[in-house]
Amino acid sequence: MTARTVRDYIRTIHDFPHEGILFRDVTTLFADARGFRMAVDQILHDHTGQRIDKVVGLEARGFILGGAVAHQLSTGFVPIRKKGKLPGAVISEAYTLEYGEAVMEIHDDALKPGDKVLIVDDLLATGGTAEASVKLCRRLGAEVVGCAFVIDLPELGGRKRLERTGIPVTALCEFD
Ligand code: 5GP
Repeated sequence: MTARTVRDYIRTIHDFPHEGILFRDVTTLFADARGFRMAVDQILHDHTGQRIDKVVGLEARGFILGGAVAHQLSTGFVPIRKKGKLPGAVISEAYTLEYGEAVMEIHDDALKPGDKVLIVDDLLATGGTAEASVKLCRRLGAEVVGCAFVIDLPELGGRKRLERTGIPVTALCEFD
């Protein structure tokens, strides 16, 4: 029997949040001690040797992963949240969704010019969320040294879109 990989711990839920959508559920990965450690360790391995001053996690599952990665790296953790959730002064970045628009925000004092940042989230689809997050970090003068995901959905083109920003993108597994 071959050993389980990170991908094996991810559950697929049909018709969530809408009919016809296959939702890749990472709660089953996070709930498993071995799976969660494997995911965090592989993200760390993918970014070995890079100077990282801050880990930036994207709401909401990026908080769980990014917090663990920051702890292992002994760096601070900075959240990027959906509009209206952060209590202090923020800067905002809007991006288009299939239907409508979304806005991500970061505290305006969360990063310093020159900070080297690793962005962490669970899943890369169209890349809109991550690209808006890269823009927020850059607007604060930080340098995004990488974007780390557990899952890439290559057919949705997020990796290509993000790589156009010049930032290395890593993912632990892919789904169609
Ligand atoms: P994008 O902006 O790349 O199109 O979408 C990525 C964002 O949507 C991520 O923050 C991710 O958490 C969320 N997302 C979209 N589809 C899924 C999915 O099937 N599973 C999970 N876990 N997250 C998803």
